[in-house]
Amino acid sequence: EVRLDRVSRDFGALNALRDVSLTIRRREFIALLGPSGCGKSTTLNCIAGLLPVTGGAIWLDKQRVDTLRPEERGFGMVFQNYALFPHLNVRQNIGFGLKMRGTPKAEIDRKVDEALSLVRLQGQEHKLPGQLSGGQQQRVAIARAIVIEPPLVLMDEPLSNLDAKLRLEMRAEIRRIHNELGATTIYVTHDQDEALSLADRIVVLRDGVVRQVGSPKELYEEPAHLDVADFMGFRN
Ligand code: ATP
Ligand code: MG
Repeated sequence: EVRLDRVSRDFGALNALRDVSLTIRRREFIALLGPSGCGKSTTLNCIAGLLPVTGGAIWLDKQRVDTLRPEERGFGMVFQNYALFPHLNVRQNIGFGLKMRGTPKAEIDRKVDEALSLVRLQGQEHKLPGQLSGGQQQRVAIARAIVIEPPLVLMDEPLSNLDAKLRLEMRAEIRRIHNELGATTIYVTHDQDEALSLADRIVVLRDGVVRQVGSPKELYEEPAHLDVADFMGFRN
């Protein structure tokens, strides 16, 4: 379980996050949803440790993690722009984190094979990122995030660079991978449809504040505020 306890993040005078409290259960798929600038990436980066919080605390089970460096938290990150190493092939990209941790070669090979098969990229492992399609590159990014067996997978708009058809296909893939892994996933999106079809629970953010948390059904049946209903497209 991951718990945010009144997390705040200021940028100078701007309160990008204000007292965000949230509990993410093991194996849950959570979508962080809201319009541009509402604080989705800030939340994710605070959880990952790429951005220090200015108030509050973050817990992983019984351990406080907001004071730890990103490597010590060991969460898997998938970014919008993939962030692959262009000069490393698919296998090397996926194994990079394990190599940095000093994992023995045989174990790296075994884990990379498993990850390749999970994201269905067998046979592509010697290609460079530039020789892959956008969807394949995003699969490499996902494999790289999960190969370290992270307690939490964080994805920031991972599909926004893909065309509409591929986006739908990868959407299903992401949920399949989450289920097969038994992962806990936080997925950032500004796309209501994506959140509704992927998530067990949706966190609606606005101006750095959590407006509502609920299952797609709960948000639909009982939106806590009119602006949530409007944003979700549940009102005409
Ligand atoms: P988008 O959907 O456009 O990615 P977002 O919900 O991810 O938006 P954030 O990137 O979390 O939004 O930004 C939240 C607020 O904090 C915005 O007002 C943004 O301008 C501000 N902000 C984010 N990062 C910084 C920074 N490094 N310095 C100053 N302000 C920042
Ligand atoms: Mg963002």
